[in-house]
Amino acid sequence: MLTSFKSLVRKATDLFTPKNAQEYPLIIARSDHTLSRKNLSPNAVKVLYRLNKAGFDAFLVGGCIRDHLIDLTPKDFDVVTNATPEEVHALFSNSRLIGRRFRLVHVTFGREIIEVSTFRATASQDQKANTNDKQNDSARSAHGMILRDNIFGDIEQDAERRDFTFNALYYDISDFSIHDYCGGLEDIAAQQVRIIGDARLRYQEDPVRMLRAIRFAAKLGFEIEAETAAPIKEMAHLLDHIPPARLFEEVLKLLGSGNGVITYKLLREYGLFRYLFPETDELLVSKWHRNDIDPEKFILQGLINTDKRIAEGKTTAPYFLYAFLLWPKVLFRHEEFMAQGLPATPALHQAASLVLDNQVTATSIPRRFSTPMREIWDLQYRLPKRFGKRAYILEQHARFRAAFDFLLIREESGYESGNLGEWWQAFQDASEKQRRELITLADTKKSDDKGPRRRRPKRRSKSKTDNAKPRKEIDNE
Ligand code: ATP
Ligand code: MG
Repeated sequence: MLTSFKSLVRKATDLFTPKNAQEYPLIIARSDHTLSRKNLSPNAVKVLYRLNKAGFDAFLVGGCIRDHLIDLTPKDFDVVTNATPEEVHALFSNSRLIGRRFRLVHVTFGREIIEVSTFRATASQDQKANTNDKQNDSARSAHGMILRDNIFGDIEQDAERRDFTFNALYYDISDFSIHDYCGGLEDIAAQQVRIIGDARLRYQEDPVRMLRAIRFAAKLGFEIEAETAAPIKEMAHLLDHIPPARLFEEVLKLLGSGNGVITYKLLREYGLFRYLFPETDELLVSKWHRNDIDPEKFILQGLINTDKRIAEGKTTAPYFLYAFLLWPKVLFRHEEFMAQGLPATPALHQAASLVLDNQVTATSIPRRFSTPMREIWDLQYRLPKRFGKRAYILEQHARFRAAFDFLLIREESGYESGNLGEWWQAFQDASEKQRRELITLADTKKSDDKGPRRRRPKRRSKSKTDNAKPRKEIDNE
């Protein structure tokens, strides 16, 4: 696909004499590209046609064009038009106006949402909106960051305010041509991520663009073009000014979309990871490790497994991702609290709280995720305890499967658990009779053997053999 695409780009540039070769937009006629309505979401096409019939310009833009040209499946379809949000809203009964930072319209078709935005221009640093239109509005922070960006403009201005050249490709529904305003086709052919305009200025306007550069490089397998890459390390600290909730969403896209390993390596290389996971980064840089964990190996293994699941079409949970990204620091803190004399369980809970409290200053973690994270961590200390009815009870725990997968990551990255993962796999696959044998085999006598079991009548025949793993070892994991 890419080869044929390269020839497409050549064909497109051939349309111009060398003198005019840099003239934009390049307009690639329907007959000269492979994007057809068949490849598009029928709902997006409906929206485009309705806008067009009402007399407005209507284009598809961004990721959907880029991904199609690289032979990836587009995630969503974004529409841009010269109609104002109110005009768009009036055309679609199934739509609503949203957003404060960027005002736009969502047109809903069952579970699919087509996002429709109005062409926008960027207000320059010193010059505010060139407008007498009351709907126009922009604002910048003291750091030059764009806070609101609602100045309507034309398609050319709209292209210039987008982030990367390959994200400024437009598909025109009126004649099915592709319009390239910033050299995106050439950069796709050269397989590079290139920011539109001056990199420093663009990162200053929105530091998240640095993360997006990494995300697209990883997702598309592209290089980051030299001038786009150059200021990132030095400007990474600007991420400190981004609201934690926005960074949380970015982290999920960066590390939970199937290219986690390569993305993580790039984030580390460019000094961006520390603004997302400050405590984890600190631990990695310090090279802290223990017999039972090498943080670098463990995190990479977590990402390898996550990428694999996504490649297999399975789902991944944000809480799982966050649980393994923060686990090394939880262990570190756990050890600290135990050294201060706290018993293992309260020490773990305190460690978890402290790690979560510190993390939310960088990226938020909604409570619906932090609770299951704590459960996964807790279960790591319960999974070794399989005697009596415990294995059966643990298996019913809502977070059992996640905790089991988590245990496998620990083992795959070097933790010697005494085949605990294998045991739990066998237990899940076993018949009732085999299960009882497995429990006997598990060798699980514990100091807390005297616990609840004692109050119950003894189970028939299955005697508990002594545990090979003393409690101390488990508590010190
Ligand atoms: P994907 O959805 O596959 O992650 P995308 O390119 O569609 O990639 P979105 O975040 O959906 O990314 O954004 C849609 C489009 O909006 C982008 O293609 C880009 O043109 C523009 N855009 C998004 N975020 C920014 C930003 N921070 N600065 C400038 N333009 C942006
Ligand atoms: Mg998108």
